[in-house]
Amino acid sequence: YKISMSQMCVLEVLGLGQYGVVHKVFHRPTRVIMALKEIRLELNKRALQQIIMELDVLHKARSPYIVDFYGAFFIESCVYYSMEFMECGSLDRLYPAGIPEAVLGKITLSVVKGLQFLKDKLNIIHRDVKPTNVLVNKKGEVKLCDFGVSGELNQSLAKTHVGCQSYMAPERIIGTAGPEGYTIQSDVWSLGLTIIEAATGRFPYENIGFTNVFDQINAIVNGDPPKLPSSRYSEAACDFVNCCLNKDSNSRPNYQKLLEHPWLVEAEASTVDMEDWASRAHALFLARKGPSSSPYVPHTSTRR
Ligand code: ADP
Repeated sequence: YKISMSQMCVLEVLGLGQYGVVHKVFHRPTRVIMALKEIRLELNKRALQQIIMELDVLHKARSPYIVDFYGAFFIESCVYYSMEFMECGSLDRLYPAGIPEAVLGKITLSVVKGLQFLKDKLNIIHRDVKPTNVLVNKKGEVKLCDFGVSGELNQSLAKTHVGCQSYMAPERIIGTAGPEGYTIQSDVWSLGLTIIEAATGRFPYENIGFTNVFDQINAIVNGDPPKLPSSRYSEAACDFVNCCLNKDSNSRPNYQKLLEHPWLVEAEASTVDMEDWASRAHALFLARKGPSSSPYVPHTSTRR
């Protein structure tokens, strides 16, 4: 089954990513609401075809912890990627409402299970674990998106990467992570930063008086790793994060070990009303954002 732009009816803008817009769309043939992500790339047709082909393995990526993939296509030099619509959006939009520790435990559990699925079932490393890539739906389910399935896409995104916040592990920055440059352990580091950011509401290396991005990089490589505030989080939660943020990548636990950590064992056993938390946090996000602006005509809708 081939998905195409002519089947899409653009409903609204969901967000602006580093490489393009994400739209909420209605897919007429299936009558399914989807999220359509645009990735602008300066690539030739062969490279674009390669990306679409490599993304195809995502059809096999069915897991309750991974955002469903519906298909991809390209127009000119943009790749369009259609996926499950997650009503409450990404974690960065939801944490300003505050995340109780029990909810944080459930979120972490889902992320670790998602990462383990990618590793064990598809043999892929996420490469970009951060709050904007953790999505929540109205049932309160937490799923991962934006992982590195396509080598071709990874390469061209790496070339154009201009992030100002680095979730990169120290070994990646100093280049000791091997020729491939990325290992499972590096994702575990990013997971640790993601948990602290979700808990505290801000990126852990922000606001320590940096004047430029080099200071931030220096702090990651030479400074002590950040911690969860022990005044507000249990010993188990703090210890979990400390394990993820071990500067020695070889000493970081693998996913199985993380799942056996007392904090996640407790999270697995606990009952938490995730649906209620998600709907409150999303309502607060909408209230802060204010009424949505006038109907936006995105450039995608002119290309039927
Ligand atoms: P980034 O480049 O920062 O990772 P993305 O391009 O992935 O950002 O997405 C931009 C924003 O669009 C996200 O922060 C998220 O809030 C929203 N978004 C992305 N995918 C979905 C989805 N499947 N369902 C709902 N909202 C989404």
